[in-house]
Amino acid sequence: MVAQVLVEIKAKAVDRVFDYLIPLDYEEKVQVGIRVLVPFGKQNLEGFVMAIKPDSSIQNLKEIKEVIDDEVILNDELLKVGEYISKKTLATQMASLEAMLPKALKAHHGVKVNKKYDTYVSLIDFDYEGKNDKQKELITKLKEKDYLKTDLKEYNSAIQTLIKKEVIELKKEEVYRLQDDVDKEISNIKLNQDQKTAIQKVKESSNTFKPFLLYGVTGSGKTEVYMHMISNVIDNGKEAIVLVPEISLTPQLVGNFKKRFGNDIAILHSRLSDGERYDEWRKIVRSEVKIAIGARSAIFAPFKNLGIIIVDEEHTTTYKQDSNPRYHAIDIALFRGKLNNIPVVLGSATPSLESYTRAQMGIYELLRLPKRINNNLPDVKLIDMAPEIKKGYRILSKELIEALNNTLEHNEQAIILLNRRGYSTTVTCHECGHCITCPNCDIPLTYHKKNNIMKCHYCDYTTFKPLTCPECHSKDISQFGLGTEKLEEEINKLFPTFKTIRMDIDTTSTKGSHAKIFEAFKKHEYDILVGTQMISKGLDFENVTLVGVINGDASLNIPDFRSAERTFSLLNQVAGRAGRGDKKGYVIIQGFNLNHYSILKAKVHDYEGFYNEEMKVRKALKYPPYYNLSMLTLVGKDYDYALEEGKKICDYIKSHVKNVIVLGPTSSFMPKINNNYYIQITLKYKKSNELLNALSFLNQKYVSTKVKLEIDINPLK
Ligand code: ADP
Ligand code: ZN
Ligand code: ZN
Repeated sequence: MVAQVLVEIKAKAVDRVFDYLIPLDYEEKVQVGIRVLVPFGKQNLEGFVMAIKPDSSIQNLKEIKEVIDDEVILNDELLKVGEYISKKTLATQMASLEAMLPKALKAHHGVKVNKKYDTYVSLIDFDYEGKNDKQKELITKLKEKDYLKTDLKEYNSAIQTLIKKEVIELKKEEVYRLQDDVDKEISNIKLNQDQKTAIQKVKESSNTFKPFLLYGVTGSGKTEVYMHMISNVIDNGKEAIVLVPEISLTPQLVGNFKKRFGNDIAILHSRLSDGERYDEWRKIVRSEVKIAIGARSAIFAPFKNLGIIIVDEEHTTTYKQDSNPRYHAIDIALFRGKLNNIPVVLGSATPSLESYTRAQMGIYELLRLPKRINNNLPDVKLIDMAPEIKKGYRILSKELIEALNNTLEHNEQAIILLNRRGYSTTVTCHECGHCITCPNCDIPLTYHKKNNIMKCHYCDYTTFKPLTCPECHSKDISQFGLGTEKLEEEINKLFPTFKTIRMDIDTTSTKGSHAKIFEAFKKHEYDILVGTQMISKGLDFENVTLVGVINGDASLNIPDFRSAERTFSLLNQVAGRAGRGDKKGYVIIQGFNLNHYSILKAKVHDYEGFYNEEMKVRKALKYPPYYNLSMLTLVGKDYDYALEEGKKICDYIKSHVKNVIVLGPTSSFMPKINNNYYIQITLKYKKSNELLNALSFLNQKYVSTKVKLEIDINPLK
């Protein structure tokens, strides 16, 4: 028999299978979807067995050297998913397969991860009585049950002797590194009608592929809906995948799931060790758990009997991987949904424009939870900071200070979010909020520290950074905004008797630190939680009645056509943290450019209103969802050469693809990282097939030349 083996070299030139003879000894062991060691040139390489056939047209085949796995690690479904990723993203087959696997199971990963064992002491000769006290004691103990060796430290020498005499033996048993025991709690929540309808609709299509968009405002009880949908699936003997943006930022969702489903869950946390991840993967393969919860890569959970896939906060950009292979987890969810004939539920309070459009067109079925459980959305107030600064309120407005006072006096809690998006790359005035933009494109210019210049990464317009603000002539103009530390300091100064806790990259670098901060705040050990975007997601604190947002408009300055969508979504999310209990919530958004529709619509919790406005802009400027977008980046050490190649690629695309808009080549974002130049080409188009063919051709052509070509289809940053 002959095996077709995909070897591990990621370079495009060898992204194909090679035939190898299966030695007779291995015929039983070699299966499709396992790893083998094969001779390749002068070395031995690991590869995946992709197919097995009776013979080969090639003469003098080499033999497989070694079989690595006893169990299949890439089942039929994952092999199909791998093929799909490769086709959709133009990544190599090997990169696509490896993206799905935990490190321990990748081919040639360089990390050896072993299974973990516990050693038990077990009695085999029940007649022997023991020579001394220790031996006698040990034998008495073991007559009742086996003991973990580590629990019998004091008997170590007795154990050694009795093993030699064959009175006892050691037994090894595989254990998982993560093993927690949670008790399930019965929930007494009574679903409302909207929740019931959503659950019913999904139940009706339990054996058909159908995508749903669960559009539910913040606090409308989406988590409860997910849990009921999953219960239904488990009752049918099937399994569920739940994607969340990031486990550490959604401790409450995970906690709720644990209470409901106990030990039936594998949690695929980004901070798991390689060994822990390997163990969780095997629990899934062996169907020892029914639910996998995790971020993007949990979409590859190797369940064999999937019943539903749920993607929470479906608009989140981290669902798209921004390195090779550049897949989007929702695409994979839909693909697996189709393969398994099951429903796929995408949930959000602010669906992506693409998803909401698909729901409008009937491609997704729309499920709505229009009301908060407590029927009470918070009141939102916008505060223009330009006059405040003149009055000396540079960081917190007078209104926000008063609101904080009032909240704290009533023994309630507050969250203050500092919007730092868009600040590190653009140049903004801290007196009037003016952001310096491109005169041609109206997109913020990107600051390049090295030569003190600002540049448009769409059209290449370049200018020096001015010394004063062109609007108000203030000298307080820079590429950096206020930091969270400074903000915390200011709040401590204003409210010395209250306790503030800060959450940002600095305070959350250690494992478990997110959860600790959330718990302490939940228990009201602190009055004010200060933080970055991190605190905007899925938190449910009953006692929080005030949310303040500093620089609410900053994210409008991100040099990206999705900046309005990001801003609306962020403000909506963070405002959704206020007034979730019985008390009324208040939100204060500070900024300079508050008349933008993304902010005005967020003020009145009007997603549809925002959607309609934003769709007009997308249509006029030919952006998604009206047009598809792809981004090509050429990377090379020789700028002129790379730019020339960029021009040739543009010409090639223009002459081979109809109805495509080609922008560029321009030198992108950061012109020089590691002495490499980055040349960028943006493509806008309606139909994908022709373009994919052209890109696929280019992708093959740019092997080992002086320029590296990177292709990002439907980029999301
Ligand atoms: P979302 O994810 O939509 O923001 P959550 O699922 O966090 O909302 O629900 C908000 C709160 O309401 C949670 O504390 C949840 O336990 C509670 N809840 C959900 N459904 C109901 C219901 N039908 N009746 C009462 N409380 C509910
Ligand atoms: Zn420009
Ligand atoms: Zn200014």
